[in-house]
Amino acid sequence: MAQILDGNLVRDEIYKELRPRVAALAARGCQPGLAVILAGHNPASEVYVRNKVKACRDLGMHSESITPPDSISTGELLEIVEGLNARCDIHGILVQLPLPAQVDKNRILLAVSPEKDVDGFHPENVGRLVAGLPGPRACTPAGIMQLLRRYRIPIAGKRAVVVGRSDIVGKPVAMLLLHEHATVTICHSKTSGLAAVCREGDILVAAIGRPAMITGEYLKTGATVIDVGTNRVESRAEVARIYRNSVEKLASLEKRGYLLVGDTDPIDVAEKAAAYSPVPGGVGPLTISMLMVNTVDAAERTLVG
Ligand code: NAP
Repeated sequence: MAQILDGNLVRDEIYKELRPRVAALAARGCQPGLAVILAGHNPASEVYVRNKVKACRDLGMHSESITPPDSISTGELLEIVEGLNARCDIHGILVQLPLPAQVDKNRILLAVSPEKDVDGFHPENVGRLVAGLPGPRACTPAGIMQLLRRYRIPIAGKRAVVVGRSDIVGKPVAMLLLHEHATVTICHSKTSGLAAVCREGDILVAAIGRPAMITGEYLKTGATVIDVGTNRVESRAEVARIYRNSVEKLASLEKRGYLLVGDTDPIDVAEKAAAYSPVPGGVGPLTISMLMVNTVDAAERTLVG
């Protein structure tokens, strides 16, 4: 039986470790504060932001969401960011993506003070990641590393294959695996012979955005599989195919109208992998946990700095 890498369990452990740190900061008159900017109306983003605000509240941290309208200009958003950069009670600033089309995303992300960049997207922090210097790491990749470390999955000397080269997942997780001495291959939509490359992976990270694309032929027997994908699947035929006509899954689809499916074939992975992160309940819960860690780290730095 493959071992399930349980993101909810690891999240609970991380929160348990954060509580005394938040209390110690409070004892010194500093409540960690996170500001989330959510521009315009995007139902998926609204759910993410609500979950982030809730996590802050549960941990006794301050949080606020700033919700400018869809029509906001780059200049107006820059003013909001500058205002938050200047506030002592805000230690982390998160700009929820995607931004409205007329906004220059790069100018906004560059404007966030690197010290408050709890998403780890600022080029200065990307440089710190590449150079192996301390700094906030992108939350999803950092969460993946927590999952691997806490389940004691060996990384040094192993072959790691990352499918996906996005700035928020693929590239940073590849760099983190490299720092842990894995031999890393990064794949993307132009990679030829993808299945054969993936089969070399002792650790396979799928960050693609295509439901159940990674099937058994992409997997090395005994690999550790990290599935980052979060795909909403609404088609009954697709759910039936992915879950091999599972009555339970089809009933769940009927009830909710969609299922969250990862980038890996759940049945093939359970059969072939030695360990894997499920969807949901794998990487997902760790992204917000690492945002909380980055915010607490940033608050602590203001006291030592
Ligand atoms: P993205 O920016 O769309 O990048 C997708 C990557 O997959 C690209 O590098 C793309 O290659 C590659 N790709 C697409 N089709 C491919 C194919 N047929 N063969 C090989 N590579 C292919 O996506 P992302 O932001 O990294 O997110 C990836 C997935 O993770 C999505 O499902 C997203 O929802 C999920 N996600 C989850 C969390 C979480 O907290 N659980 C956080 C972030 C993202 P090219 O570069 O060549 O186009």
